[in-house]
Amino acid sequence: MKAFVSFSGGKDSQACLIWAVKTWGQKVEAVFCDTGHEHPLTYIHVQEVCDQLGVALHTLKSKKYAGFGDMSIQKGRFPSTKARFCTEELKIKPMVDFVLSQETDLLVIQGIRKDESNSRSKMEEQCHYFKGWIEPYGKDKKGRPRFNTYRKKDVLIHMERYSSTIMRPIFDWTSQDVINYILENNQKPNPLYYKGFSRVGCFPCIMCRQSELKLIIEKYPEHIDKIKEWESGMEKKDRHFFPPNYIPKRAMTNRIWPTTDDVVKYIKGKNETIEVFEEPEGDGRCMSYYHLCE
Ligand code: SF4
Repeated sequence: MKAFVSFSGGKDSQACLIWAVKTWGQKVEAVFCDTGHEHPLTYIHVQEVCDQLGVALHTLKSKKYAGFGDMSIQKGRFPSTKARFCTEELKIKPMVDFVLSQETDLLVIQGIRKDESNSRSKMEEQCHYFKGWIEPYGKDKKGRPRFNTYRKKDVLIHMERYSSTIMRPIFDWTSQDVINYILENNQKPNPLYYKGFSRVGCFPCIMCRQSELKLIIEKYPEHIDKIKEWESGMEKKDRHFFPPNYIPKRAMTNRIWPTTDDVVKYIKGKNETIEVFEEPEGDGRCMSYYHLCE
């Protein structure tokens, strides 16, 4: 049997990786799905954590797309909260391909916590990896059950031959429990948390909070330039990264859809308002969402 930890570079999966190594030793392996749209610090962190724990790292990429930007341009649109094909194409499919390529019983360890969201709270601490292929995971618009269909034939063959189980060992932990566990085990979470980001993943994610986008605009403008480049590479010029309701219509040049320039202008102009509600920067206070300053 093999045990793999789905490691995103975020704190939850890091805690899982530490937990798994403490439980099973170095035979555990880490799997990182590279969207091609991560912060450089995340790539470094992923490698450093694996080196520190002495575990093998598998970096998976989409076989179809050269990363987030290429995927969006090829599809002629950016993903959205309603059409989150980014997760499917850049994370789920590469991971399913990886699982199917393992000709043995498998344990896949995921850093999912029930207090992250309502949908996550309904998940189980342990289940079959391919559960969504054999049991409905939801309903479509007409109320019909929805199943995963990706490589279904291969999935059924794999299921006949091997067991593949998902385990979520930190399901009941709080985010602060996770941070404490990482620190107690002489590691540090991804440096992005120290810089004021509450989530690690695509930089930025399509669901990025405005306060985090403000940090990116100020400190990492090259990531904004990258989005603009993708937008200008779109065949249809009305396809933009940020959702239509991300900023008020009055702040949009065309009153229909915000361009990245519109969003940047709005967020910069809104700086003072945001700071009324959020922790100010640069006055010696901890910038970290999880109070990471010792
Ligand atoms: S982090 Fe955000 S943008 Fe990236 S794959 Fe996940 S949902 Fe999509």
